[in-house]
Amino acid sequence: MKAVELVNVSKSFKGTQNREFLAVEQINVEIAQGEFFSLLGPSGCGKTTTLRMIAGFELPTFGEIYIEGQAMEKRPPFHRPVNTVFQNYALFPHLTVAENVAFGLEMEKIPRAKIRTQVTEVLEMVKLVGYEKRYPRQLSGGQQQRVALARALVKKPKVLLLDEPLGALDLKLRKQMQLELKQMQQQVGITFIYVTHDQEEALTMSDRIAVMNKGKILQVGTPVEIYEEPTSHFVADFIGETNILRGRVVKQQEDELLVLIDNQLMITVPYGEKIAIDQAVNLVIRPEKATLYPANHEDQFGTRSAPQSSWLGKVEEVVYIGTDTRYVVRLGEQHLITIRQQNIHRSYLQQYQAGEAVKVSVSADSIRLLLDY
Ligand code: ATP
Repeated sequence: MKAVELVNVSKSFKGTQNREFLAVEQINVEIAQGEFFSLLGPSGCGKTTTLRMIAGFELPTFGEIYIEGQAMEKRPPFHRPVNTVFQNYALFPHLTVAENVAFGLEMEKIPRAKIRTQVTEVLEMVKLVGYEKRYPRQLSGGQQQRVALARALVKKPKVLLLDEPLGALDLKLRKQMQLELKQMQQQVGITFIYVTHDQEEALTMSDRIAVMNKGKILQVGTPVEIYEEPTSHFVADFIGETNILRGRVVKQQEDELLVLIDNQLMITVPYGEKIAIDQAVNLVIRPEKATLYPANHEDQFGTRSAPQSSWLGKVEEVVYIGTDTRYVVRLGEQHLITIRQQNIHRSYLQQYQAGEAVKVSVSADSIRLLLDY
């Protein structure tokens, strides 16, 4: 069963000079029950507005929203089976942790004994037992975030909406909380819809991600699909580091294309569909998928299933980043390509120096082709 469904949802606001401005445009998405679903995109792309429409704080200008199969059109926020966790926690400063968590249940006039059990249960879940009597100001940022989470979870919503909930935490704590949140979500089995502009966070936590830009959803997929098989230049560029080389198709034979980049570099890529000769294309090559060799390295054809493309280049920049070394290599006159080599053995560390001639090799099946219009 679908937890949440958005059908053709658009939202316009009055912009400058009273002009209508489309913050969200024709969004269609289905979120399954128990899914950890992220809305990912740059600042201002419409993520929060989409979340606020699901919560009922904003009404769509067009389109429909269904939660657990029920149309939400006429339902105010407090009559929707959802709860929201905001980035700024929005805790009551004059109430203790236990009182903050109990607040929503007290509003519903639930018997005191039952409230106490539920509060204890949820505080155990967010690892805050022993902190019941503290006030928010006596807690760290991570602990305050846990209270906000407990307060939302205690009401047992069908869907939990989270708007950049870890944004205010430092990097180490954020990474720890990401794993805890994911574990907690699996434990309670509630559908999470999570807004973030941090692609690494979305990849780490989500079952599926919707990548948004300028009010539209560009792609929905699992983290692996979004990273390995981007369907647009924007998604390829936004998710992780990447090289995007622009070229033209010069030949098609069976399931392979020959693509020429700036009359200089020839690349073989797998492609099963019919394509016009001279079609402009973008080739997406992730830095970790290319390999560096000494310039005199002989290509070993026939030992791999996919053909290799190899080019001679010159190392321009070497940056050691612990697990990897990041090389920027100039190919031909114009192209720079970033390559990451894992430092598995000590002998790999800074194997190549700036100014050194090298060979860059990429397996055809690691290159993603995007049509460029
Ligand atoms: P961020 O990550 O910065 O929060 P976002 O992707 O969540 O960005 P939204 O907050 O949904 O983006 O905003 C989308 C666009 O709609 C922005 O250009 C914003 O200025 C505009 N917008 C949002 N709310 C309103 C409003 N109430 N009135 C007018 N414009 C609004």
